[in-house]
Amino acid sequence: MDTTRRRIYLDYSATTPVAPEVRAAMQPYWSDVFGNASSLHSFGRDAAAALDEAHTVVGCAIGARASEIVFTGCGTEADNLALRGVAFAARRANGGSPGHIITTPVEHHAVEATAHQLHTLFGFDLTLLPVDGCGRVDPDDVRRAIRPDTVIVSVMLANNEVGTLQPVREIGAICRERGVPFHTDAVQAPAYLPVNVDELNVDLLALSAHKFYGPKGVGVLYIREGTPYVPAITGGGHERGRRPGTVNVAGAVGAEAAIKYSARERDAQAARLAKLRDRLIQGVLAGVPDARLSGHPTERLPNHASFVFKNVDGESLLMALDVEGIAVSTGSACTSGNPEPSPVLLAMGIPREWALGGLRITLGYHTTEEEIDAVLDVLPECVARVRAASLEF
Ligand code: PLP
Repeated sequence: MDTTRRRIYLDYSATTPVAPEVRAAMQPYWSDVFGNASSLHSFGRDAAAALDEAHTVVGCAIGARASEIVFTGCGTEADNLALRGVAFAARRANGGSPGHIITTPVEHHAVEATAHQLHTLFGFDLTLLPVDGCGRVDPDDVRRAIRPDTVIVSVMLANNEVGTLQPVREIGAICRERGVPFHTDAVQAPAYLPVNVDELNVDLLALSAHKFYGPKGVGVLYIREGTPYVPAITGGGHERGRRPGTVNVAGAVGAEAAIKYSARERDAQAARLAKLRDRLIQGVLAGVPDARLSGHPTERLPNHASFVFKNVDGESLLMALDVEGIAVSTGSACTSGNPEPSPVLLAMGIPREWALGGLRITLGYHTTEEEIDAVLDVLPECVARVRAASLEF
């Protein structure tokens, strides 16, 4: 590998580097404090003490009790457990008859595929709420969609692909009024926005440590006390029976350290990054013909810029930028390699010839002004080149 080559990372929504203080906090839990937190002896008790502390700190950071926090294997798993857990509990309570699920067409696959599986394999009715051109749900549509047999509503806090923030607090208030459990996928939020379960009026919430400068493979599921829930993974009584499986203590400690770190850095970084993001957005829209911002112009993550370019293949653009040493994404990291336009962009009403040219540039705690200027320097030429190649076909 050529180590002198410039490399600029602008894909912080895909993942973030582990902060040094997080790495240091986790270090003792690989080989020194290695006990199984379920073991009764002193080795187990040492691990259990660290795990208890992680529950308390992570809970406190989002306004929850320690007992309402469940560590999982990733954000995807937290979303899966939330939807299935509530749906299965409702089905049990209703003598086996499946109910109705409400979500949106702009959710991450973790929610989207789970809701679809509950529909196709388990017989739940599914309503996908409409979204506007910015990807936002109208809370009144949630009010209208709720039925007597609705078992759960799931609307994400911040969209991974276009950065749009949903009116989660308002939607949560409606769900509470109607007595329907409300889940939000908050995976993209905590490094850049405050997340508080009471302010958001949510009953279930999913996080993922690697999105806020913690380790990969650690998720957090918040379940408000009293929420009907049946564990979709079966096994032992770990995490109070809500997520069976020996708990990754080092990972939980990592999530704890990462949430402390990002809570400390968040406000200053959000203000700094919003300025850099706006400089980037203005520069791209001014410098690249046939370019549009995707997602909401103001109600969006402070670190998130996303665009669509007419008659440009997004993947080719990503690769052209990669050759320049700049790492970005076409949208969700999980859909890379798929030449079809993003369903999220299509649901927002973006025409196919624009939706094929989606690009996501996400900033993080290490992003500098020079890096943004480097993107602005090379992007117009990259788009022109890729567009010329696309039009040849
Ligand atoms: N939800 C959203 C909004 C995400 O952006 C992601 C990851 O990209 C996930 C869920 C899945 O999280 P994980 O990678 O921890 O499974």
